[in-house]
Amino acid sequence: MSAGGPTPAPVAVAVVGSVHQDLHLRVDELPRPGETLMAREWERSPGGKGANQAVACATANQAVACATAGARTAMVGAVGGDAAAETVVQALEVAGVDVATVERLSGRATSTAVVTVSADGTNSIVVAADASVALAAGAVEAALGRLPGLAVVLSQAEVPEEVVRAAVTGAAAAGARTVHNLAPYRPADAALLARCDPLVVNEVEAAALARDLGLAGSEPEELAGRLAASCASVVVTLGARGAVWARGRERGHVPAPEVPVVDTSGAGDAFVGALCASLARGDGLDDACAAGVAAGARAVQHRGAQAARPSVDASSEPSLA
Ligand code: ADP
Repeated sequence: MSAGGPTPAPVAVAVVGSVHQDLHLRVDELPRPGETLMAREWERSPGGKGANQAVACATANQAVACATAGARTAMVGAVGGDAAAETVVQALEVAGVDVATVERLSGRATSTAVVTVSADGTNSIVVAADASVALAAGAVEAALGRLPGLAVVLSQAEVPEEVVRAAVTGAAAAGARTVHNLAPYRPADAALLARCDPLVVNEVEAAALARDLGLAGSEPEELAGRLAASCASVVVTLGARGAVWARGRERGHVPAPEVPVVDTSGAGDAFVGALCASLARGDGLDDACAAGVAAGARAVQHRGAQAARPSVDASSEPSLA
């Protein structure tokens, strides 16, 4: 803290998750088995669901600064001891995310996601996971314990299950609310689901979870209602149709506005980050979904996941390409 400066407001949202460097490769067609291709274009950018959602959460707070004076977002994750670490941590800082709880693991590489996109927009993603999955569960609980006044602890499924469990335990110890985005999908145990308030899934993830839980139903509204029996609350995002939520017997649907779509890849992360910023302000689930839908609609009008934020000049984006 700087001498004589104002005391910083406590961190309101802690995001426990992945911090990646994304390597985007543009090709005419995705490579077939055994084929080697030269990319038409390539670029690196900061990524990882954890980092993308932390940026979305921090910038959602900035976008409504009067209502949120002091609401802050911290990233709890791990990067390597390499040059990529500097770039991805700096991108978080530029967006206003607190990075004191991002561990630098000197013997590791920053995890890299290779995103190959064909001319028709189809993509395939492979993650070379290293530092982001080496984060120790104990370190997560300790980091959350150093953030007094936390309102929300958000996690995703790009980090090991024990890290998510530590996020849930740390949230309970801090008296904070647990929000979990079950993406990418993997089976989730009953103890985790019971703590989610809300569990956030897209339609594909909702269907996979319902199948694993042996639940019938195919309509998202119906699924959200059935999934709510296993979770404190559930939000299912529906792409251009917005999002539905369910808590106990309560239900809600927030439609999305019609907007010109450029790139939908950052929409889910923008939605979840803004939802958490709203919940941290004390909003109810319907208002939080409305904040998520507004952020999702902004995100689809820009290319890239972290570049979609409203208050950061794109020219300040670190780019190595
Ligand atoms: P994911 O990216 O995780 O698959 P969705 O596709 O459901 O998630 O998108 C997340 C949110 O982003 C949606 O709930 C919606 O609010 C917004 N969104 C996505 N696609 C569009 C679109 N075409 N028009 C407007 N909003 C959109």
